[in-house]
Amino acid sequence: MSTPQNPSQSGSKPTSKSLLPGILKGLATTAKTATRKTHTHEYPDVAPDLPPRSRGVIALMEENCTSCMLCARECPDWCIYIDSHKETIPATTEGGRDRQRNVLDNFSIDFSLCMYCGICIEVCPFDALFWSPQFEYAETDIRDLLHDKERLGGWMESVPPPPALDERSAEPAEIAAANKPARMPRGRPK
Ligand code: SF4
Ligand code: SF4
Repeated sequence: MSTPQNPSQSGSKPTSKSLLPGILKGLATTAKTATRKTHTHEYPDVAPDLPPRSRGVIALMEENCTSCMLCARECPDWCIYIDSHKETIPATTEGGRDRQRNVLDNFSIDFSLCMYCGICIEVCPFDALFWSPQFEYAETDIRDLLHDKERLGGWMESVPPPPALDERSAEPAEIAAANKPARMPRGRPK
């Protein structure tokens, strides 16, 4: 007994009758998806709508940096380079001691090595490093991915403000300290 064969097995050409259901099914799918909202963006014509906490680039607030080297020591990729020198600040009162402070000479991050883990930002005790969602800094020369302190400082403009505190959270310590009434010197009448 001979078994029925499909057109491709038998070598015969498909007829217009056998193609019609497939074409109709394809057209129905096209009509259905044509009206659906798209999930793609026509970048760079349309800028992506990124969440404010996106990890685009690291920004440096130079005034806050004390050159403590903590970020450079904790960076798993060793891609933070810091140079600083000590400066002596003369005593302001007679008999007082001179003080020393670190002056930042160089602070660079090599974004060709950085893996965007965020450890440097987490460990900085002085809030000198921040995430900026800015990501458009691709270069044709890999050496240009080494951002110096001026370039890292420039990214501060694109750092979004911190999210609002939960309405039932405690007042931040620094605001509570600033709102505290000043202490009266001892012995002075109130
Ligand atoms: S994000 Fe991670 S890898 Fe990049 S500089 Fe900071 S600590 Fe290093
Ligand atoms: S950025 Fe922060 S952790 Fe890094 S050297 Fe400056 S103060 Fe220290």
